[in-house]
This record gives sequence, structure tokens and C-alpha cells, in this order.
Amino acid sequence: MKPKNKFQQRVVEASKKLPKLTKEQIQWSKDNVIEHIGRRNEKGKITCTKCGHSWQGVGYLVDTLTDCDCPNCKAKLKVKTTNKRVFRTNYYMTIITACEGYQVIRSIMVKCTARTGKLPEYEHSEVMQRWLAPDGKYCTFAKLRQTMGTMYYDAWIHYTLLELRRENDVYDRIFTDIIYPRQKLIPEIKRTGFKKAFYGQKPLDLFRTLLIDSRTETLLKTGYTKLFKRIMDTGWKNIDNYWQSIRICIRNGYKIKHATMWCDYIDLLRFFEKDLHNAKYVCPTDLKKEHDRYVIKKAKADAQQELEKQLEKEDEYREAKAKFFGLAFFDGVISVRVLESVAEIILEGKLMHHCVGSYHTKEDSLILSACIDGEKIETIEVSLTQLRVIQSRGICNKNTKYHDRIVNLVNQNISLIEERLAA
Ligand SMILES: [Zn+2]
Repeated sequence: MKPKNKFQQRVVEASKKLPKLTKEQIQWSKDNVIEHIGRRNEKGKITCTKCGHSWQGVGYLVDTLTDCDCPNCKAKLKVKTTNKRVFRTNYYMTIITACEGYQVIRSIMVKCTARTGKLPEYEHSEVMQRWLAPDGKYCTFAKLRQTMGTMYYDAWIHYTLLELRRENDVYDRIFTDIIYPRQKLIPEIKRTGFKKAFYGQKPLDLFRTLLIDSRTETLLKTGYTKLFKRIMDTGWKNIDNYWQSIRICIRNGYKIKHATMWCDYIDLLRFFEKDLHNAKYVCPTDLKKEHDRYVIKKAKADAQQELEKQLEKEDEYREAKAKFFGLAFFDGVISVRVLESVAEIILEGKLMHHCVGSYHTKEDSLILSACIDGEKIETIEVSLTQLRVIQSRGICNKNTKYHDRIVNLVNQNISLIEERLAA
């Protein structure tokens, strides 16, 4: 892609000055990035795919052995019991460097092909670079990827050029956790108090946040690194929810040992409309105790709200259906009566294992229950506009042998419902 603006033009110019990868960097990737395999055969003989040394493993019956060190080259090996003779693996190494005033994050794909009986072959290919300016603007250079006929999002086409490309969220997904230890930083990042720890964040995200928001600097320099990590983990924009309280903590020299718990606690304080500027609340001596107390308080508040909702429903139901309350029919064996509350309808649904529980909101429905000697037999739904039974169901929606008799009993008494309806 041709540069679209001044910024991109400048980066393309600067990129011509970026040094080639060094021998040391490539060697480091072979020693540290690649997970070498210890190939174990059925007899328990293990062969190191890095140096070719093989030896009889002790206790070859132990199938759970997953890691070991090669006695010859000391490489850490991942043990696999297999007849496979060729192992191909891909890894990413990230190099953090600076060039012409830009922070550069380089992604190198390292490939290792290990054939039993031969020394492994290594290849490497720089597939991506992120160029970040001190003001937080960035652009990406990358190779092209194969997108058709592959299930991988990072099937790089290695012979293509590392060129300026339109941003694509695939670039953000490239693994960047294995970082070459020697890092070169632009002064603007050094100044923020960044100490080469990434707190589990992607380098680009971390650097951009450091450059854009000076609050990161305050957190790092005052030692609130756990809190910094926690907020980065949940999305940096959440800092706005906590910042006023964090400032109180800093002013009071309050240590936050459990960042997640403290953030949850602040959220609870906010829910209960406590003063988030007040050290009395935001700097508790016993955080866990206060946190747990508010968790219980919140659970009670939620339960109360649930109950109020329920009562509201009862009121609505009573208002809509009270005129039918007290209606009951009896044919000598079966008795049918109108259900008189939401609670009763929900209970009916639970006992009968059908879905009548939600029917209390149906404006056109009247719900009745049929019993014999107090035992529930079927639940009846009458349409108030059609003045007839539209369904009658026993346990698990099955009809009972009393089904026709129940439907007849209700239909014969439908005029009683009609009378109430007209009243
Ligand atoms: Zn070895």
C-alpha cells in the first residue's frame, strides 16, 4: 500500500534505516523460542530433536512424562511418544527496538524442521513490524497472508515484501509474549517509568497507553503495578471509573495488594452511592472484610429488588384477574378453581412441570387448576375473549384420563366466567 498521509510517508522513510536482524537475535530464537521435542519410541528410547542425542529413558512405562532435559545439549524437551519422524514447528519472537524516533515492534516467525537422525533446520522470516510514534499514532508493515484454503490466520507468504499495509485485527492477534531480552526504547517511553515488564499486555497496547495517557505514568511510578495490570486487563478506558479513588489512595500512601478485589469494592461503593473521594471508604484497613460486607449488602439489595418486581407483578395480576377470584366448579369428583396469585401460578407450573408459570401476564387467559381430593390433575387455560377452554394439561403437558371430563366441566360453567367478565 502507498503511504496515505505525512505520518505514513515519514515512517516508510524511517523504515529504510532499520538494521537487519543480528546473528545474536537469530541464535537466541533457536535457543529460547523453539520448543524442542524429545521423540520417544515405544521402548522408551528418547531422541533429542535438537542435537540428535538419544538415550534410554528411565521408567519408560511412565506415560505421564511430558518434559525432560537432554543430557547432552541440556535443551528443555517436550516429550512425545510417536512414530512420527519429522517435526515442523513455528514460533514467534518479538524484538523491541527504536529507529529514527519511532518505537518499533518486530515479529519474527521462526520455523524449525527436525528430522530424526538429522540436525534440525531453522528458517526465520520477519513477518510484521508495528511503528509507533511518540504521540501514539502507529502503522503496520507486514507480509501478505494466504487467506484462501487455510484455517490459519497467520499463513504468511514468506516471499512477499514487508510493506506498509492497511490495519487488520489479525495483526493484533499475532503472539508477542516471547520477547528478545535486549530492548531499545524511545525516550518518551523510558520517561514513563516502564521497566521492561509487560504485565501480560501486548507491547503495542502497552506502549500506546503509556504514550497517550499520563495516568499510566503515575501508576507505574507510585508502584501501583497490579492495579495498572488489572485495569489494562479489563480495558484501559475503565481507568475513568477508578481514577478519583486512586488519587485518594496515592495521597494517603494506601497500598493496594489485591487489585481485582479493590476494583470490585470500588464498584460496590459506587452502586451504594458512597463518596469515592473519601479515604474512609476507598482506603479500608481491612479490604477483604469491607469488600465481603458490601458483597452481602449487594446480594440483599438484589434480592429485595427481585422481590419488589415480584410484588409489582402480583399487583398487576390482582388488578386484572381479581373479579374471577373465588370461582370454583365441582362435579362430585373433580374440583376446578381459579388460581389467585402469580406465586400460585408459578408453583402450579413447577409442580406440573409445564410452562404455565409465565402465563400470568397473558391478558386474555384465565388459569384454573383441576384437583381430585386436593391432588393436582390438570391446569386449564380459558380464553376470555373466546369464552372456551383453549388448553388443559396434566404433568409434563400430558393429558390425563380425566381430561375430557375436566374440559366439559369448565365449558359447562363458562357462563359463570362470562358473568364475572361483564360485572
Ligand atoms: Zn540434545
